Amino acid sequence: MQSLLDLLIRNTIVVGAMSEFVESTNMTRLTEQIKAWCGMHGLQYTDGVLNWSHAPITVLPSTFSKSAYEGCQDVQPIINELVDKISRDREFIKDQLTSVASADPFTQKLLDLYNTLPEKQIRCAPQFGIHRSDYMLDMAKDSENSNKERALQIEINTIAASFGCLSQKVGELHKYLLHRNMVGGSLTTEYAALTEAIDRNLDVYLQKGSGNECLESSLPTNPTIERLSYAFCEAHVKYCPNPSSKDHAVILFIVQPGERNLGDLKALAHSLWTRHDIAVEFMSLAQIAQHARVATDSTGTVSQLIIRPGPNQWSTTAVASSDSPSSVLSPGELCVSVAYFRAGYSPDDYPSELEWEARALIERSSSIKCPSVGYQLVGTKKIQQCLFENSIMEKFITNKNASKLRLFFASQYAMGPNATPEGLVAMERAIEDGSSWVLKPQREGGGNNYYGTELSAYLKTHRNDPILGGFILMQRIFPATQNSVFFIRDKLSILPSISELGIYGTYISAVNAASEDDDSVVSVHNEVAGYLLRTKPHGVDEGGVAAGSSSLDSIMFP
Ligand code: ADP
Ligand code: MG
Repeated sequence: MQSLLDLLIRNTIVVGAMSEFVESTNMTRLTEQIKAWCGMHGLQYTDGVLNWSHAPITVLPSTFSKSAYEGCQDVQPIINELVDKISRDREFIKDQLTSVASADPFTQKLLDLYNTLPEKQIRCAPQFGIHRSDYMLDMAKDSENSNKERALQIEINTIAASFGCLSQKVGELHKYLLHRNMVGGSLTTEYAALTEAIDRNLDVYLQKGSGNECLESSLPTNPTIERLSYAFCEAHVKYCPNPSSKDHAVILFIVQPGERNLGDLKALAHSLWTRHDIAVEFMSLAQIAQHARVATDSTGTVSQLIIRPGPNQWSTTAVASSDSPSSVLSPGELCVSVAYFRAGYSPDDYPSELEWEARALIERSSSIKCPSVGYQLVGTKKIQQCLFENSIMEKFITNKNASKLRLFFASQYAMGPNATPEGLVAMERAIEDGSSWVLKPQREGGGNNYYGTELSAYLKTHRNDPILGGFILMQRIFPATQNSVFFIRDKLSILPSISELGIYGTYISAVNAASEDDDSVVSVHNEVAGYLLRTKPHGVDEGGVAAGSSSLDSIMFP
């Protein structure tokens, strides 16, 4: 896959909008403003060893339909509830995923782990989800709606839905740049050159009123950091309701060794500390395998996850933890209230059985998992595809909510042995011409899908191969392009681009204390928690920021 940087360096995309005005303007002052702001506010990436550089970003917000944005926010609580309900239905998950798992060993491993969990845990344990549902605005092609854009869902992320904190920051940067470059009622030369080159009349917003107020109606606020940390706090308190247990309880962030997106994670950890007095520890799955244990408390019902963090965050030689089954904490040990997975979504996160053992240890403990393996399985492409089929969603949510959500679904079909007649027709069409389709395996994190001629060739070669059972075939969504100013590794570029909106949702469910039925689970927290806008040059198929395809962006209503 070509990264955005490759494309910029090799200039394989036509830079259509780099106006003479921009080329002749010295942008140093503006780029220094951007870099300083990113450094001061943590809109940063690391190289894994705490050398920081600015994250890939756009310099000006992108236009996005207000009604589509509000529509996507509106259905997020329904999605949150749907994920929870499905995750608690073992038979359904097994029915949907058994044949996929036989074509895909990673899904098989997750399903095996899920199947080892006691039924009571699946049905009643408290669950905490940070979800992000991603959308693109499809340009409708039928004549009746020829000018109407429709938000269609790309996928629901139920594990490691990242970039929430940096997304808030890029919106703040955009607002800062706009204010800072409005001097005496007119825009600075550099900023004016960029807005003119990409035809974004941001100064109009400033002139509508005064100060920040006039911006809010056009540039929506994005309080992701506050909303995510509030949800964490709610889950933490649910795990340890009395203050004495809170003293030794921490939230554990499970990260990939050498994680680059630490700016995003540390902003969340700092917010938990400053707003809620909750400490966060960072460990990799391999470290957890060596330095964590599960101990049953005096009531015999709670299996506490106990960690002994190493001398430094990335240490692989941390002090070995005791083998004691005691729930009494030894010096240096901490009890985990919430185990938050920012790793564990890809087979690469499990280079040996050790990492799977760590995953199983966490999963069997009473810590609240964000997400549980059940939530993770609901995030597979196959489960999302089956929701497109008639009457499936109605098993879990009201007919009214199902109809609302269905408006956002693009066509998608199971492939391989479970393909329906419609799926087989779609496959033949995609073999003839792959340009209107995306072929997706059961993977997260970007860089895994097939597009265009490669997609057709893959389907043709594997037409009768059971391996196709691990894939879904999805209608390709075609958003309108607009020009964007990218700032990547200190370099400004103007390119035609397309954007993908993500809406964060937070959800906690737990046994209903007011009910006589022990197994009755209710939602105790169900919120929309901000948005992410990712923008990539037109012509780049894949979309992740971490995968190097997209840049962080913010929304401006037209
Ligand atoms: P992943 O789990 O790897 O993030 P996605 O389904 O989100 O998988 O696909 C990765 C990227 O591919 C998306 O961010 C988007 O840019 C692009 N993409 C995925 N599905 C479609 C689609 N149906 N139409 C257009 N682009 C798509
Ligand atoms: Mg994605």
